[in-house]
Amino acid sequence: MNTTETTMKPISALTAISNELKSENCEKHGNYSSRNLYKTVWSTCPKCAAEQADKRRNEEAEKAAQERHRAWQKRLGEAGIPDRFQNRTLDSYSATSEGQKRALAFATSYADQFDESLKSGRSAIFCGKPGTGKTHLAVGVALQIMKCGRCAMFTTVQRMVRRVKDTFRKNSEESEGDVINMLTYPDLLIIDEIGVQFGSDFEKNLMFDILNERYEKLRPTLLLSNLTAPEIKAFLGERIYDRLREDGGQFVPFDWQSHRGS
Ligand SMILES: [Zn+2]
Repeated sequence: MNTTETTMKPISALTAISNELKSENCEKHGNYSSRNLYKTVWSTCPKCAAEQADKRRNEEAEKAAQERHRAWQKRLGEAGIPDRFQNRTLDSYSATSEGQKRALAFATSYADQFDESLKSGRSAIFCGKPGTGKTHLAVGVALQIMKCGRCAMFTTVQRMVRRVKDTFRKNSEESEGDVINMLTYPDLLIIDEIGVQFGSDFEKNLMFDILNERYEKLRPTLLLSNLTAPEIKAFLGERIYDRLREDGGQFVPFDWQSHRGS
């Protein structure tokens, strides 16, 4: 495809660019006119050159896409979103009943207006039986705001309690304050499984500390629970519950039957 030929043109060969052309043949693209570039160097098939440039561009784009994918996976890992929920977007939530449509509409507008919620610290409580899609919609909100550069974190009450209790061990590298800071830092914190077990005073105090810290920093929290509204109120304590509601925090019922059939 690439033909170079020694030519006996000592004078013109010393000038920077000659206008000397000759007809060449590319096995793939047929005839093309080759320009003398310098001494014995002639231009190659322009279509081959364009194909190679395309190939390089594609390879670079693919590498960049892989890099973005890796970075996204890393962010998902840091956000603590469970593996099986990592592709649960708002778009992939199937809403058939009126209640499901209302819940999806709430989650969509909450994600769309998240920057507004950051000014007011507006939280929300998703409440209903297991298998009704609370986690799916909450993760959907998290994925959307993360794509807009916001930081989200997913955890459960049990995991928070364990992490704090771990700090009480001798030689723990983390302090209780570190854990509270880590849970206060994300723009959105999702706390799942509220009230799965009977809430100990330790759990309740921890919830109070975290919600209070986040409240003061105007950072919204999504609370997911299988409990009823009065039970959540009893679990969180009246003060925090009323504060969540007063700040425009919405109570979103998931009151249909489980799609898991449980
Ligand atoms: Zn060619």
